[in-house]
Amino acid sequence: MEEKQKTPGELRREALLYQPKNGYDRLPKEEEGDLNAYCEDYKKFLDVGKTERECVDETIRLAQQHGFKPFTRGMALNPGDKVYRVNRGKAVMLAVMGSAPLSEGVNIGAAHIDAPRLDLKPNPLYEDAELAFLKTHYYGGIRKYQWVTIPLELRGVISLKDGTTVKVAFGAEADDPRFTIDDLLPHLGAEQSKKPLGEAIPGVSLNLLIGSRPFADDEGKDRVKLAVMDLLNQKYGITEEDFISAELSAVPAFGATDIGFDRSLIGAYGHDDRVCGFAALAALFTLGTPRRTAICMLADKEEIGSEGVSGMRSAAFDTFMSDLCDSQRVPLKACYEKSFCLSADVTAAFDPNFAEVYEKRNSARVNYGMGLCKYTGARGKSGASDASAELVAYVRKVLDEADVVWQMAELGKVDAGGGGTVAAYMAERDIDTLDAGVPVLSMHAPFETVSKLDCSMTFKGMKAVFEA
Ligand code: MN
Ligand code: MN
Repeated sequence: MEEKQKTPGELRREALLYQPKNGYDRLPKEEEGDLNAYCEDYKKFLDVGKTERECVDETIRLAQQHGFKPFTRGMALNPGDKVYRVNRGKAVMLAVMGSAPLSEGVNIGAAHIDAPRLDLKPNPLYEDAELAFLKTHYYGGIRKYQWVTIPLELRGVISLKDGTTVKVAFGAEADDPRFTIDDLLPHLGAEQSKKPLGEAIPGVSLNLLIGSRPFADDEGKDRVKLAVMDLLNQKYGITEEDFISAELSAVPAFGATDIGFDRSLIGAYGHDDRVCGFAALAALFTLGTPRRTAICMLADKEEIGSEGVSGMRSAAFDTFMSDLCDSQRVPLKACYEKSFCLSADVTAAFDPNFAEVYEKRNSARVNYGMGLCKYTGARGKSGASDASAELVAYVRKVLDEADVVWQMAELGKVDAGGGGTVAAYMAERDIDTLDAGVPVLSMHAPFETVSKLDCSMTFKGMKAVFEA
């Protein structure tokens, strides 16, 4: 049959108008296998890495499998060498040395591996009405009502005065018990239901239920608390005072799972921003000897402003980079000014159930690929690293040449809210930076949803950026 001749209007429309397509209409059939295999690996990464420390441990394990070695100051480096450095167990930087000198700049993929959660307070354990609880202080921007009546587990570390650190992953094993935070029954919730969503569950009531059985044959007070402490002492060798030097977090006690009859989505805790961190890492692992040195930065503390010694504002990154530069006698500033950073962080996916907070023309859509954000911020781009037109053009070219499905994205409509990433802190270092990442539904909820196609396109995009 003869193909129908296109009308002049159709031809002009095709040539002139921007018409993004659903990624599935652009995905070559032969890429589907890779897409699914990649997402299976990602789901495993999520299940073992529920805190930044666990993500660092898993990153090191995977990096060593791929031939990465710890980088020490003064070490000689050759093209193709693969090295990493851990910052205090909570952030990790990896490099694949390029054939070009560091004076030509590096390609950086920077993501964060911390996620919103409920941290235990330094003095958390108490008993009330013969029930034992742990008091929490939430970390990052959570919607408190989402964290009640779901199974939670405890992950983190307890550091003892003798210098040893005990790792805790209580609830991680299939037959481990779990914890929960209770909520009011509807029968008695009439007053609570009248409150605004943000006030109905106050932060001070986020107390983790951890036990109810009193210590046997004892006449003293707080018998339930004592019995719980006794169990903890048997399991971890700790006393109540040791909570003071612990970092324990209550995190959702469910694993990553496929969502939808078509299995096209992944539901999990912590997509923000492990979905981009894993993409950057997996892309780094595919490299041979790139032209420019490739850097993968997995940062901590993004969710609370990138502060602190393990956050993106810490000099630890500069120290790592300047140690690399010293090996080639290149001034750090000369490297930075020629470098490029993709600040890989999630963006909000357009949700038709809450259409009013999005601007449809400029929102990321599920299955439309990696979302590039020229700027983030709030109230007139405040706090944003607004990437230049030239930089966005550069990234468009790199992604198109690698056949990456991507889209432009803005986090919500003007003045509906906003958010930040590590981009501003990279840009502050005189590094050209653009935000890009996976669109997420229910961001910051204990159970967030992303599309498999978008995950895999972000991996493909990171790879293209490293190879550019
Ligand atoms: Mn994020
Ligand atoms: Mn976030």
